[in-house]
Amino acid sequence: MAKRWSITQHVCASCYGRVLARPCDDELMEFVCANCGREKVGENESCICACGLQNAECRPNDDVSPLWPGEVVAVELTA
Ligand SMILES: [Zn+2]
Ligand SMILES: [Zn+2]
Repeated sequence: MAKRWSITQHVCASCYGRVLARPCDDELMEFVCANCGREKVGENESCICACGLQNAECRPNDDVSPLWPGEVVAVELTA
């Protein structure tokens, strides 16, 4: 029986679409972008999401607006 995808609090590093996850083998998880379909297997979301980018991180969007309608956004970290 196929394991179900669950939605994560992370967004795709290439298109900022929502990342979905499901358990894979052992400690690994399978990740897929709900928007562009990019797939990765890894220990955590940072292999596919914006957390894996330099100076960026996925954050809950506490100011949902027409410009940033997503529940989760990738924000640039300032040093
Ligand atoms: Zn994507
Ligand atoms: Zn992330």
